This record gives sequence, C-alpha cells and structure tokens, in this order.
Amino acid sequence: MSDSGYIGRFAPSPTGRLHIGSLLAALASYADARAHGGRWLLRMEDLDPPREMPGAADDILHTLETFGFAWDGEVVYQSRRHHLYRAALDALIAGQAAYPCFCSRKAWHERARQGVDGFVYDGLCARGGNEKAGITPAWRLRVPDEIIGFDDRIVGHYQQNLARDIGDFVLLRADGFWAYQLAVVVDDAEQGVNHIVRGQDLLVSTPRQLYLQRCLGYAQPSYAHLPLLVNRQGQKWSKQTLAPALDLSVREQLLRQVIGWLGLPDAPQVGKPQDLLDWAVGNWRLERVPKNEIVTEPG
Ligand code: GLU
Repeated sequence: MSDSGYIGRFAPSPTGRLHIGSLLAALASYADARAHGGRWLLRMEDLDPPREMPGAADDILHTLETFGFAWDGEVVYQSRRHHLYRAALDALIAGQAAYPCFCSRKAWHERARQGVDGFVYDGLCARGGNEKAGITPAWRLRVPDEIIGFDDRIVGHYQQNLARDIGDFVLLRADGFWAYQLAVVVDDAEQGVNHIVRGQDLLVSTPRQLYLQRCLGYAQPSYAHLPLLVNRQGQKWSKQTLAPALDLSVREQLLRQVIGWLGLPDAPQVGKPQDLLDWAVGNWRLERVPKNEIVTEPG
C-alpha cells in the first residue's frame, strides 16, 4: 500500500467488551484510513483502572482480529506512557497555562453553573491564595474567553467558547489519574495521527483538544465525528443502556448492518469478514455517512 501520509487510529477504552457502536467507529476509521492509502493505528486507552474490566483489552484485540481488522505497528497502551503526559503537563506548567486546583469536587460543584459538558469550574484556584497544605491538587488548564471552532468532515462547523461553555478543565486528577483530554492530545501528536474518525459523543471534547494542541505547539488533525447509535428513548448505546457485546458467531450480519448505517451500498456475498472490510474500503465515501443519530434497539 502506498504511503499517503494519512495516519488514522482507533482508540478503545477497555471498560468493557466492544459493542456495535464500537464496531461502527472501528470500521469507519479503518475504511477512511485505508481508502486514503493511510496507516491505521490501535491505541488502548487504559488510563482509568477503576473503570476498566479485567481482560477487556485482550478481548477487544481478539474481537477486532476476528472481524478481520489489521492495524499497523504495535498496539500502544496509554498505561505505559505516563512519562509523556508528565512532560506535557510540565511544559504547560512552565508556560503558566496550567495551575493546581485544591477545590474538592463537592465544594466547587456547589458554586458552579452548568456548561455544555457538566459544571463550569469558577476559576477560584486560578486566582491563587487557595493552596491547602497536605492536599494533593488536581491540575487544570486555563482556557481563554474565545471561540474555538473547526470544520468537521461529517458534522460541519462546530465551536465553543471554552471559558463560557467548559471552564478550566482537569489535566491531572487529584487522585493521580491522567485526564483523557491531555492523554489523547499527547498521543495523537506523538503517534503522528492526522485524521481522527470517532463518535459524536466526543465532539463536545474537541475544542478542548484543539486548544491543548495550540498550547503544546502540535499540528491540528482533521476530524470526522460519526453518528451515534441511540435507542428509541434517544439514549446512546453503552453498557449502561445494555448494549450487548458483539456476537462473533454473526460477524458478517453485524458488519453488513454497520456498512448500511455508514451509507455504503449493499455489499455482495463474500467468503469471510475480511473480504467485507476490503469491499467497504473499496467503496468508502465519507460524504455518504449520515450526520444524524441512528435509532436502533440493542439486541
Ligand atoms: N477512548 C475513547 C473511547 O473509547 C475514544 C477516544 C478518541 O477516539 O478520541 O470513547
């Protein structure tokens, strides 16, 4: 395969087994990368052990292989890359973009107003004078009162005012865990990822990630945020809404379902799941992917 310079990725969190929403994200990111003659990397986002399910990381890799997905290079595990996140945080602290926050969650939630993704931190610790001896702080990024937007390949233009809509957000939690926002930006840059294809549940995070890229001097990737699968009550499919794990005995049926949702034409009869993936790559047209959520019932 020619090397076009496109680098994409799939980045599951091992909090459970893959479900059909994950298959949709895996297939779309894979097909878009391969259709562009690009590389497709696999990164395990295992940063939050309390939320992880033992064995899920291996189960995810096995499931992807069984569906015929082949990734480039070694799987990257975020749990082995804390030094990279530390270096990025140190650079942000040195540039006075990040500051320690001593507020307990309960205390600041009581003072806060709602933003577009939870409460907006009021910046008490940004003003200093709130240091508390014997308490390990969280570290937050100071965000600007400024519109940060981008043109998504599926959704179109999307923007937020970070100060108004999000607030100074956490990079390192007080309990010592790295925040997704920092790790994802560091890893995508360090791995050279320049095309991100992922679910629309992460659209709300993207302006934070664009701003972090700017602070750290990284290039901005292009983004395509895929439609979410929702049930008839409009809830996203997840473990909480009882999305079942992928049933490996009906792989072809599941792939055909996802292929249809992604706006591809009906696939011909094929020998094995891998052939369906190849067919999806050959027929891939991102502009056919619908923007709106896909209503379907789990099971
Ligand atoms: N690990 C995230 C998830 O499973 C995806 C992160 C990303 O694609 O940026 O939801």
